[in-house]
Formats: sequence, structure tokens, C-alpha cells
Amino acid sequence: MLLAWYDRHRRVLPWRAQPGKKADPYAVWLSEIMLQQTTVKTVGPYYAKFLTRWPSVNALASAPLDDVLRAWAGLGYYARARNLHACARAVVERHGGVFPADLEALRALPGIGEYTSAAVGSIAFDLPAVPVDGNVERVVTRLYAVEEAMPAAKPEIKRLAASLLPPHRSGDFAQAFMDLGATICSPKKPACALCPWSEPCVARLRGDQETFPRKARKREGKLRRGAAFVALRADGCVLLRQRPEKGLLGSMTEVPGSDWTHDFDVAAALQSAPRFRRQPPWRKLAGEVTHVFTHFPLALTVFVAELPRGTPSPKGARWARRAGLADEALPTVMRKVLSHALD
Ligand code: SF4
Repeated sequence: MLLAWYDRHRRVLPWRAQPGKKADPYAVWLSEIMLQQTTVKTVGPYYAKFLTRWPSVNALASAPLDDVLRAWAGLGYYARARNLHACARAVVERHGGVFPADLEALRALPGIGEYTSAAVGSIAFDLPAVPVDGNVERVVTRLYAVEEAMPAAKPEIKRLAASLLPPHRSGDFAQAFMDLGATICSPKKPACALCPWSEPCVARLRGDQETFPRKARKREGKLRRGAAFVALRADGCVLLRQRPEKGLLGSMTEVPGSDWTHDFDVAAALQSAPRFRRQPPWRKLAGEVTHVFTHFPLALTVFVAELPRGTPSPKGARWARRAGLADEALPTVMRKVLSHALD
């Protein structure tokens, strides 16, 4: 049923193989990593840019990590970019630059978990696996009226999804499953009349489709606050530094700042300002820059200072030309800080 529907309604996406042709494992892997927590619309230009610049896994593996992080800037969840690069290197070192057609070997690669190995394995190699993303979870919980709340229901959803796998065309089945959730079985007002599974769907029969998947009560992250210091040198440079490799936004570029804490004290913030031989007066800007990470919202107070030409950069920081900021590996929150200070 689902495959017949897919043959009529397959979505044409840039990373999909043409009908009758094999998918490129590199393209499938690249798109699947980019699409984690990110929409198809946002991913499109990044995917095209990466594929033009690094058309093969060998090319990506040879690129400096900094270049990959720069090209990734704006896509968020930056650990993915570091894993992407590490994975490309591992494919070259362990498998001679060819993605392995084996679920276990795929899962052993950096940044490839159960979902991505199933996606690459099924779509690129037709291996019998179902990648269970949010769309598939929604379809399955409605189809079987799964009462258990998320995320506890995940193992049961995976078991049910795997039980639907046909004996052939695993790759098409995986894409059809995901497409059905993305286009027909939408979170609100699913188009059940067009669904190939409308007959057996338990939630449709009961008329409570939109209540699935059942949700556990959400725990909101507590607001964190911090200070960001935008130092401007008279020759048109801004002071930047690199974040530590481990942790949130690892290895990305930022303006100097304080820790982000629940009990942040603005009055004490200046102690975290970068140290120059001659301390400039720091001007606190009106308003705050806000950003929401997966686990917590953040509000940053921004301070600005002007420094004369020739001022050396403090230890661990560097001066970067304002004209070149677009090419820096600045995460979205730092781009917000800079536009608050510079616009
Ligand atoms: S019948 Fe409706 S609720 Fe059930 S799987 Fe299809 S679109 Fe989703």
C-alpha cells in the first residue's frame, strides 16, 4: 500500500536518487546529518554548498576542520559539523573512502547513530532497516494508537515500524514512511482521506489522530544570563576567540564573554571583560540578545568598547576584520550579538 502510494507521490528532493537509479551514500549521509533538527528548506542551500565545495567524502575528509565549521555556521547543533568531518576521515581511513554497506559498520562511524545508519543503510544500500524520525513516530503512534507517552514509547514505535518493513525496496519504503509523515500525516489536520493506511489506522477510526504521539509534560530549561563583550578597533577589526573544543558550540568562534549562569550579576560582569594594557570604558547597550538552545533559553547583555589602532589582542583572542565576519564560524547567537552591537 505504502510503496504504491510512494510511486505516485515521491517527493523530489535534491539528495534523493532519481527513480531507477542508486542513491549516492555520501549524499544521503550528508543530507541526513544536516536534516537532524533542521528543516528541508533551511538545509537546501547548505547541502548544495557542501556538495559543490566537497563533492566526495574524500574531498570533505581532506578539508581543514575550520573550513567545515565556517561553511556550517548558521545550521546550528555544531557538534554535527565536527562529527561530519570526523566521520569523513574515518570513512577514508577505515573503508578506503567508500561508505560500508553494513549497518554495524555504519553505526561504528563518528556521529552515526541508529537513525542515520538505518537511513543510509536502507536508502543507499537497500538494507532492511527503518529509520525512525519524528515523522515516522507520528505515523506509527497514530496507526496503532500507541498510548505510552514520548520518549518512553520509542522502543515500541521502533518495533512496530520494523514489523511493517516489506521484503524488498527497503530504501523506498523508508523514504515513503518519512514522506507520509511529512506531507499527509501532519501534526495538525492530517489528510487521512489521502493516506494509503487510512483503513487500518486506529487513531483515524477513533477520530483522535491529533492527540498522537502522546506527550510527557515538558520541562522548560531555566533561563541563563551572561555578558558579551564586543571590542572594536579603530581600523575596523572586532575581537574574537574560539570556544573550547568540548561542550556547547565547541570550537566555534565567539566574542569574549562571561559564563552563562542562572545567577548572573550584570554589575559583576565587567570582571569577565577581555584585558587590554589600557582598559577601555565598556558601554552597556540597551536591551538584551536572546537565544533559545535545546535545553535552555539565554539572555546576553552586550558591552561595547572602542580601542585605538595597533592595540594588540589579549591572550587567546584575535582581531578579525568586520568585512570578513560573514566567513567566520560564528554560531547564530554570536551573529545576533554582533548585529546588536554593530548595526
Ligand atoms: S490515516 Fe490519518 S492519522 Fe492515520 S496514518 Fe494516515 S494520515 Fe496518519
